[in-house]
Amino acid sequence: MTKGSINVSVENIFPLIKKFLYSDHEIFLRELISNATDATLKLKHLTNIGEAKVEYGNPKIEVKIDKDAGTLHIIDQGIGMTAEEVEKYINQVAFSGAEEFLNQYKDSAKDSGIIGHFGLGFYSAFMVADQVEIITKSFKDEPAVKWSCDGSPEFTLEETKKAERGTEIILHIAEDSKEFLDEHKIRELLLKYNKFMPIPIQFGMKTETLPLPEDAAEDAKPETIEVENIINNPTPAWTKAPSELTDEDYLNFYRELYPMQFEEPLFWIHLNVDYPFNLSGILFFPRIGNNVNIEKDKIQLYQNQVFVTDEVKGIVPDFLMLLRGVIDSPDIPLNVSRSYLQADGAVKKISQYITKKVADKMASLAKNEREEFEKKWNDIKVVLEYGVVSEEKFAEKSEKFMLFPTVDGKYFTWEELNEKIKDHQTNKDGKLVVLYASHQDQQDAYIQAAQEKGYEVLLLDSPIASHFIQKLEQEKENVTFARVDADHVQNLIKKDEPILSKLSDEQKESLKTSIENSINKQTYTVQLEDLSLSDAPFVITQPEFMRRMKEMQQMGGGGMFGMGNFPEM
Ligand code: ADP
Ligand code: MG
Repeated sequence: MTKGSINVSVENIFPLIKKFLYSDHEIFLRELISNATDATLKLKHLTNIGEAKVEYGNPKIEVKIDKDAGTLHIIDQGIGMTAEEVEKYINQVAFSGAEEFLNQYKDSAKDSGIIGHFGLGFYSAFMVADQVEIITKSFKDEPAVKWSCDGSPEFTLEETKKAERGTEIILHIAEDSKEFLDEHKIRELLLKYNKFMPIPIQFGMKTETLPLPEDAAEDAKPETIEVENIINNPTPAWTKAPSELTDEDYLNFYRELYPMQFEEPLFWIHLNVDYPFNLSGILFFPRIGNNVNIEKDKIQLYQNQVFVTDEVKGIVPDFLMLLRGVIDSPDIPLNVSRSYLQADGAVKKISQYITKKVADKMASLAKNEREEFEKKWNDIKVVLEYGVVSEEKFAEKSEKFMLFPTVDGKYFTWEELNEKIKDHQTNKDGKLVVLYASHQDQQDAYIQAAQEKGYEVLLLDSPIASHFIQKLEQEKENVTFARVDADHVQNLIKKDEPILSKLSDEQKESLKTSIENSINKQTYTVQLEDLSLSDAPFVITQPEFMRRMKEMQQMGGGGMFGMGNFPEM
């Protein structure tokens, strides 16, 4: 037997990194700006704890395109690197300086917001560049150095002149990646990945119009000035304490997040937890109604203010996928490409936490702002019904906030409804019968008849109402739901005063037969005898179970729990 170790040389690994490390080439910019941000945050930390005796100032990161030279530049004012550090951090592939820093400064640096951790981000530059240069000057009193590499394992490292502290990364953009020299493309990427990163990012200049002085002449032209174009908001709302924020701040943040959304959200939930995992964020409830479009303006996932993805399935429970907003958690495990979420224990805990926060918020609204909550009910009920159907933990808490609207515009909690109907809406088995309509217009005659009898009729018209009802029947003992036009209703309705038919028995029989001949007798029943719908001469009902079976069949085999099969809305 022979034993040995597989020899992985850089020569072999480089093309692999280039090709397969990141499926999305565009993320090189996110990685380089993350490094520039880390370098700045490290300096901030070292000046804070007195280890760096330099002025921190108001550092920014600058992104520049030089079309003529075919280069893209990322310039920071962070800690920089000495020659020795370049050797250590850059020349050693997969050695993460970020991780080393966090280990070295442990507790004091744990909230510093440092992003990197795989030690591979820098090399993503070679996905779009055929040559990369680093010109860097450390905050330590040492000469500046220039590192240069064309993507082969050979590099050069030499002293150079650079007056200011910090690092400039220069990418000589490759022939097949020229799009990254396009201003629009870069702006788009910056807005996608870096819009809320913690250090100001400048991309070019912009013109600002100064307000006219009050005593300006009528034909005075407003003065314009050139100012630095800062792409990002370094302190987005979710990074602040809820107590610091007004409603207007939340609404402004919503607009910032979804500039194309003109409708305001109904309410929001500020998430903030340190233990057992770290997570912050804001979830907004948009006006959903029955017009559900999950493809648009989805919840965005960030890590330390760096955009990661808006595919949050698995982290956010399915029923909340219709919400909007931001979740920021460094604790969500991602693979190196950060685009693949693993459904592991930590993620499950996060999902449960979010579910609980939403349930708590709903309970608080239902308790403290009942009137407002009722007004918003129709816009959010789909989400909550779906939650009750699909998340046990949510269902357990739902009695506190689920509302049951009636056809005449009242809203009951389950407890209130129960109180209201328990004495006179039971069937012969002693079960409580909850009457509901699914189409206010189509079932109007039945609704009216039931109302005349003093029954409450709920309006359960959401696209998932039948699943919701089934779930409630499973949960609640001794309760059955009956649609107003179902046969149950006839059994339930015990007339005090029978309405006498003007027809003779023979006439009734022949009328009944002729109606029966025109419908499917297997599925429907004609009733003339016990005439309980006051205005209607006869009633055609369908056994509740038959109707439900058909409904389930139409919904397609009960596969609703995958969002893909979310019933048509
Ligand atoms: P990671 O960010 O996971 O540590 P990277 O490959 O992105 O890995 O970067 C490797 C290391 O190179 C960083 O940890 C840091 O020490 C150093 N580095 C990269 N970019 C800069 C920069 N702009 N300024 C200072 N150091 C940098
Ligand atoms: Mg990095």
